[in-house]
Amino acid sequence: MAGGFAKDGAVQEQIDATIEDAVQRARNELPSGESLYHCEECDAPIPAARREAVPGVRLCVSCQAAHDAENEVFSGYNRRGSKDSQLR
Ligand SMILES: [Zn+2]
Repeated sequence: MAGGFAKDGAVQEQIDATIEDAVQRARNELPSGESLYHCEECDAPIPAARREAVPGVRLCVSCQAAHDAENEVFSGYNRRGSKDSQLR
């Protein structure tokens, strides 16, 4: 049953990594606290309307769009990964 132990450990590691990943991503996607006056990435001024519309905003519109595009790629990849691990 040594193989069974190794398998369980691997699955647990994967779950831990997934949770950690999800927490990190949630933090990136749902900023909280004070809105920044300048973009964290490119230092462009963030308009007052955007700061009020998005509490805790950290990025200007163009950097946010770039981040959203990145996250779509990552979540698509991750979804495929967790589906694959459920089948095993
Ligand atoms: Zn920016």
